[in-house]
Amino acid sequence: MNYRHAYHAGNFADVVKHIILTRIVLYLQRKEQAFRVIDTHAGIGRYDLKGIEAGKTNEWQNGVGRLLDANFGTDAAALIQPYLDIVRAENPDGAMRHYPGSPLIVRHLLRPQDRLSALELHPVDAGLLAEIFEGDIQVRVTQLDGWLALGAHLPPKEKRGLVLVDPPFEVGGEFKRLVEGLMRARKRFSGGTFALWYPVKDRDEVQRFVTALHETQIPKILRTELMIRAPSPEPRLDGTGMIVVNPPYTLYDELRTILPPLSKILSDEQNAGFTLDWIRGEQVGA
Ligand code: SAM
Repeated sequence: MNYRHAYHAGNFADVVKHIILTRIVLYLQRKEQAFRVIDTHAGIGRYDLKGIEAGKTNEWQNGVGRLLDANFGTDAAALIQPYLDIVRAENPDGAMRHYPGSPLIVRHLLRPQDRLSALELHPVDAGLLAEIFEGDIQVRVTQLDGWLALGAHLPPKEKRGLVLVDPPFEVGGEFKRLVEGLMRARKRFSGGTFALWYPVKDRDEVQRFVTALHETQIPKILRTELMIRAPSPEPRLDGTGMIVVNPPYTLYDELRTILPPLSKILSDEQNAGFTLDWIRGEQVGA
C-alpha cells in the first residue's frame, strides 16, 4: 500500500468528489429519520497542506485553492457554499492550512441521530483517523479492507444512507472491483445511495467501466466527469469521475448548475469540459 492521499488532498478531484458528497448528505438531512454514511476508503480525515507530502505537490492550489475567491454565479455559489463553509470551518484563522477529507466533511453534516462508519486499511492512516474521532459516539473508525464493507456491513441498521467508495487505484482491477462491489452491495441495500469515485486517465478503460455498469441492469446510475485538460498522450489524471447510484432526485439539476462554472475554474485548458449523464435511467432496461 504505497498510495498516500496527503500528496493529493484538496486537488481538483477531491473538490468535485467532496462537493457531490456534500450535496448528497445535505439531501439525506431533509428527512428527520437517521441516516448512516459508510466511507469504505476513508483516508486520514484531515490533511496538513503545509506538511511534507502536500507541500511537495501543492496540488491543492489548483483545486480548493482556486475556489476560495472564485465567482461561480449566484445559483452555483449557493450549492457550493456548504462545502466551502466546512473547508473554512477547518481553517478558522482564514489561512488555508488544513483540508478536510471525506469522513471529516461528513462529520460536519451529521445530526445527533446520524452515524458515520469509516474504514481505512492502512494501519498508520487508520490510527490517525481514529485519533480525530476519539470519544465521538457518532463515528466508528475500523481498520479493515473497505471492500468487505460492501458485503457484511450492509444494510446499515438505519436502512437509509450513503456508501462512498473511493479506492486509490494503485493496483489494477479497481474498476472491476467497483462494479462487482456495487452489485454485491445493491443486493443487500437496494435503497441506499452509492457514490463511486474513479480517475479519468485511460478513456478506453473508463468506457469499459461505463459499459459494465450499464450491463448490470441496475437502474438510476448517474455519471459525472469533470476534465481539466484534453486527453494526454501519456496516462495522466486528466479528469475526475463519480458514479452515483440512486442519487437524490435533486442531484442532476444541482450538478447541471454547478459543473459549468466549476469546470471553468478548475480546468487547465479552456473548454476541457464535463459530462453529466444517465448510464441507466429510472427503469430497468432504460
Ligand atoms: N476518501 C478519502 C477522502 O475523500 O478524503 C480519500 C481516500 S484515498 C483516495 C484512498 C484511501 O484508501 C487511502 O487512504 C488508502 O490507504 C486506503 N486504502 C487502500 N486500500 C484500501 C482497502 N482495501 N480498504 C480500505 N482502505 C484502503
